[in-house]
Amino acid sequence: MYPENSFPLKRPIHQLDSSSRVIFLDRDGVINQERAGAYIRTPEEWVPIPGSLEAIARLCEAGHEIIILTNQSGLGRGLLTLDDLEAIHTKLVQTVEDHGGHIAGIYFCPHTPTEDCSCRKPKDGLIRLAESELGCRAKNAPFIGDQLTDVKAARSAECRPFLVRTGRGKEIFDEELSDVEIHSDLSSAADAILGETQ
Ligand SMILES: [Mg+2]
Ligand SMILES: [Zn+2]
Repeated sequence: MYPENSFPLKRPIHQLDSSSRVIFLDRDGVINQERAGAYIRTPEEWVPIPGSLEAIARLCEAGHEIIILTNQSGLGRGLLTLDDLEAIHTKLVQTVEDHGGHIAGIYFCPHTPTEDCSCRKPKDGLIRLAESELGCRAKNAPFIGDQLTDVKAARSAECRPFLVRTGRGKEIFDEELSDVEIHSDLSSAADAILGETQ
């Protein structure tokens, strides 16, 4: 079993402050394609959604800081190792940087649902961890996800919930979404956020 709140990414983390304009992103189904019925276990299986890397770059260019929050229960299920995840995230970070963006931090929950941890979304433990480690403030920050668990985590931390219709977001309709900003994909959500700040 993995302990809680002890998963530093093995690379420099951009220190932020309470004035940083952070945007939280879910990973699978928002930045990269879901693998139908399977976990992403290798860098080769990590495939960006068209336009997502450019969207991150546009947000960074405008002064936003990108923090990724992702449930990765494949770790707790023994389907991939921390080294496997590190290799995937190294590719993610490098690919984002190749497109002109950067990632301030990546936080993941390695637990299975039955472990009842405090970090697995829909709980807000990953948001709180990012706040305490990076020094940023989550309140009113956009949180862009493709599942209700993302929306619920965002609500819990008083973030602005965004739902994108990529990944699992194509299937969510019968829920209470009146407080949720809905977009076709990350590129569209990013443009909406950029439209507010220009
Ligand atoms: Mg997702
Ligand atoms: Zn967890």
